[in-house]
Amino acid sequence: MAAVFRTTTPHMLRDSQQLGSRTLMGGLSGFESPVGMDRRDRLDALRTGDIGFVHSWDINTSVDGPGTRMTVFMSGCPLRCQYCQNPDTWRMRDGSPVYLDAMVAKVERYKDLFASTGGGITFSGGESMMQPAFVSRVFRAAKEMGVHTCLDTSGFLNQNYTDEMIDDIDLCLLDVKSGDEETYRKVTGGTLAPTITFGKRLAARGKKIWVRFVLVPGLTDSVENVERVARICEEFDGAVEHVDVLGFHQLGRPKWHQLRIPYPLEDCKGPSKELRERVAAQFRDHGLVVY
Ligand code: SF4
Repeated sequence: MAAVFRTTTPHMLRDSQQLGSRTLMGGLSGFESPVGMDRRDRLDALRTGDIGFVHSWDINTSVDGPGTRMTVFMSGCPLRCQYCQNPDTWRMRDGSPVYLDAMVAKVERYKDLFASTGGGITFSGGESMMQPAFVSRVFRAAKEMGVHTCLDTSGFLNQNYTDEMIDDIDLCLLDVKSGDEETYRKVTGGTLAPTITFGKRLAARGKKIWVRFVLVPGLTDSVENVERVARICEEFDGAVEHVDVLGFHQLGRPKWHQLRIPYPLEDCKGPSKELRERVAAQFRDHGLVVY
């Protein structure tokens, strides 16, 4: 049977046309930025989670978790993925500071919508774990309201998260960007081990995981690499509900050009149908559900 790929898209590979048809509102509307804070005040507030630096937010369906979701894109990322679709989120200082109370009020405003659609709040990025105090305090408030919480992350900043913070995550969209250290470093500039550790910690605390794997021809597509990603999923001990195999595309290229950052995948094409099918079959051979 031919493999079926759902058109769900992660933060770094959001298809702007699909997103346009699903996004109800967004940008940074509805938030007052803190005024009268100097640099030191801002750093203190960032550390305590009284403010967070946000790139943008939107209300969407079928993109970042179940149901209708409020997705908040945090600014700042320690990785530099070759296929990143949002290099404009890399620097935290390029985001806008938003008060914790304003974010919590926004979640409360959509509480009924989340309840009726089985949705909730998702933190994405950039890297959502770069501002752990803000994100975890919003999640704590969301759980007190009975709102579903989802963290979209690479897990690279595993050390930033305590077990108590993990307890307020209902679902994690975990990017396993590669199966071996060497390829991971080549793809992201970072190390793979923290992702595996974070996945195991989520599993140990009974959390659900949707693994995301970006399939880039010539970069992440070798049989050995995919096998290693599948084996990592197995190590998460039944926590993985499914694997999203996401075909690379070039929709982010204009942003790299705009920011004048040398773009390493200038001539890379998306995966063929045959390649997608081969990779999906590899995951299925490990008993994993693939979308
Ligand atoms: S982890 Fe960071 S660099 Fe990688 S795709 Fe996401 S935002 Fe881009």
